[in-house]
Amino acid sequence: MPKIKDIQVILTAPEGINLIIVKVITDQDGLYGLGCATFAYRELAVKCVIESYLKPLVLGRDVHKIEDIWHLMYNNAYWRNDAITNNAISGIDMALWDIKGKIAGLPVYDLMGGKSREGVLFYRHVNGTSIDEIIHKIETLKNQKIHHVRIQWGLYGGITKEINQPINSEPGTYIDTTSYISDTLKMFDSIRKYFGDDIELIHDIHERLAPIDAIHMAKQLEKYRLFFLEDPFSPEQLEWMRQLRSQSAIPIGIGELFNHPKDWETLIKERLIDFIRIHMSQIGGLTPARKLAAFAEQFGIRTAWHGPGDVSPVGHAANVHLSLNSHNFGILEWIGFSSVMYEVFPGMPYEKDGYLYLSSKPGLGIDINEELANKYPIQTTVTKWTQTRLPDGTLINP
Ligand code: MG
Repeated sequence: MPKIKDIQVILTAPEGINLIIVKVITDQDGLYGLGCATFAYRELAVKCVIESYLKPLVLGRDVHKIEDIWHLMYNNAYWRNDAITNNAISGIDMALWDIKGKIAGLPVYDLMGGKSREGVLFYRHVNGTSIDEIIHKIETLKNQKIHHVRIQWGLYGGITKEINQPINSEPGTYIDTTSYISDTLKMFDSIRKYFGDDIELIHDIHERLAPIDAIHMAKQLEKYRLFFLEDPFSPEQLEWMRQLRSQSAIPIGIGELFNHPKDWETLIKERLIDFIRIHMSQIGGLTPARKLAAFAEQFGIRTAWHGPGDVSPVGHAANVHLSLNSHNFGILEWIGFSSVMYEVFPGMPYEKDGYLYLSSKPGLGIDINEELANKYPIQTTVTKWTQTRLPDGTLINP
């Protein structure tokens, strides 16, 4: 049986976002796997956990024992389920699935039970500073046969407006939640009037509202027939889901900030949400993600794995494999990548006429051009976009 011979961490930022790729090398000539450990804003900490703690733990182990190695890594530090460790575990976990597929000569979705569908439905993100701009961008996507869009007027929290801030206000992104809510309702009214029912719409509150304001907004949005409303509450305020559910039938997607199985257990068991939107590397990779998908299936809840630019192409490939396999797949977030990403990551998933497809290679089907990846160094800086404030300067969730 092939054994783990070496583990390398590759940091690269072809589109300006720090990506963390893990390469697990075996003692068999040319046999290696890739995994995504991308926590874009704590990249050096993840690298350190892999190189200093996980690598010495798993060197020499049988690559086939994914389940055992996953639990070994999960329990090794005694304290568990933090974002940095889970991402580090994910990098090795996905790489082991990639290796298993290469040995078997099968794509990972076949290892998990095979395809439930031939292409993976996805949605694209649209924002704009005017309704006309948003309409124009949706029309461009519709011409590419993309039927699901997430629409935001401005950035998360609304369009930038003159805000009356107190003297000596701290720097940050200031948002006026009252005008954000009324602008968003106006946007949905205009978009539905323009396109009718011929488009599926998603919107992300991004946990920026007081819980009762999010419920009020959800009730008013219900008539616009959303595909789902994303993150009405922060992970710290999930008990409000029961109040929202009792008052509105708007579909809910939630989960990109979850780390711990207890974060989603109650939401799924009580059928308080409709789409589980986990960031796969954030919970420890494919091994826990496929268990979560199977758990959600029992309760009629669909998957919508988190797929922004701070998931690496290797992570996106894992998203697509599991989405092809899961019976209860709903939709996938797909940001669309530049040609340079396809050069750095040969074999990454690609879109055609509204669906995502994989390369025909075994395993995860994706590789990395390390020489090219090295030409796009990461930058370690203080994260600025997470400093969101109310008009009076109060810091809120980003
Ligand atoms: Mg989101």
